[in-house]
Amino acid sequence: MLNQILPWSEDRECKVLPCCCICGKIPAEGIRGVIKLKKAFICKKCEEEIVHLDIDSAQYEVVKEKIKKILK
Ligand SMILES: [Zn+2]
Repeated sequence: MLNQILPWSEDRECKVLPCCCICGKIPAEGIRGVIKLKKAFICKKCEEEIVHLDIDSAQYEVVKEKIKKILK
């Protein structure tokens, strides 16, 4: 299989693996489980969470800052 998922390792290589920039995890679906945002990736789980985040919540601020850095 071409898109075989590599096991989780301490020295994760975010450059080659679609490592989510929000939760830092590599989705089980690999590249198909993420959306690309510039040079970063956001997994579908986080994407869903972002959509449902409360604008007044602290988590929203954290996510917003992370996305800001990506878009710079
Ligand atoms: Zn994520």
